[in-house]
Amino acid sequence: MKELLTINDLYVNFRTMWGTAKVLNGVSLKIRKEEIFGLIGETGCGKSVTAMSILRLQPSNAEVYGEIIFKGENILEKSEEEMRKIRGKDISVVFQDPMTSLNPLFKIKDQMVDVITTHEGLSKEESLRHAKKYLKSVGLADVERILNSYPHELSGGMRQRVLIAMALSSNPSLLIADEPTTALDVTIQKQILGLILELKESYGFSVLLITHDLGVVAEICDRAGVMYAGNVVEVANTEELFENTIHPYSKALLSVVPDPRRRKHLKPLKGSVPSLINPPDGCRFHPRCDCMKDACTKQKPELIEYSKDHFVACHLYGGAKQ
Ligand code: SF4
Ligand code: MG
Repeated sequence: MKELLTINDLYVNFRTMWGTAKVLNGVSLKIRKEEIFGLIGETGCGKSVTAMSILRLQPSNAEVYGEIIFKGENILEKSEEEMRKIRGKDISVVFQDPMTSLNPLFKIKDQMVDVITTHEGLSKEESLRHAKKYLKSVGLADVERILNSYPHELSGGMRQRVLIAMALSSNPSLLIADEPTTALDVTIQKQILGLILELKESYGFSVLLITHDLGVVAEICDRAGVMYAGNVVEVANTEELFENTIHPYSKALLSVVPDPRRRKHLKPLKGSVPSLINPPDGCRFHPRCDCMKDACTKQKPELIEYSKDHFVACHLYGGAKQ
């Protein structure tokens, strides 16, 4: 399968009053055409910063180095004007809390028509037709009522569907979904995930799904990557990742899945997530790793292909820079 997006050695630093936080520490990953790629890891490991880097939505205190190749071109070299054309059109995003992405003061109709008119250059009437079509495609039945509602008049699940409809209305090649179901209850979560999967099949876009919910990954992702303290430490297809986990951190992370077969391995991680202002040298996981060896404190392990399509960044499996 061909790549849609390739991130090469991405470093992001945030200058803060306490020092420079080295938030992404050489992230590399590929998102293939028409796949759902899950990015997992604890809060603060850099999942959202990775997503925001793809959209080039960074705070002004950010320094960004590396390459983000989207459709053959480096996003980091684009002008702000070129980025505006890509954002919300070729790359759409759906966030966790739909209330923060919808304007509470305007009816859904006005917000959708506005987005579609801006991105597609259609007339208001055509945009409204478009809006109706996409609202139907996300499984909303009473389209007229939805269009004439204010965001607070809809349930959380409906609002998320509206946002997905808005995200799709520009026919994106990449949909970034950052914790899209975290704010919803379990039944609605399942419906929204099912919907993303269904829409991906019919429209043929790729999805970068950011989540800390491993169940979500197991359910709909084709491949997934595990992040720890600003690094991608393991990438494989979902089944392989869950069945043949090899990185010590991924093993600890994935062992918390409430699966009776795995319960006997349940062992809490020692220590805590490191400071990104003064991160550990070498492998950032080394202070917490039971398998640590000499090289781990000195040399950052590179992400290497350990077995076919299964990538890992750990000195136990090679990974030292040549
Ligand atoms: Fe543990 Fe070393 Fe592998 Fe890091 S590189 S996960 S410290 S064994
Ligand atoms: Mg996040």
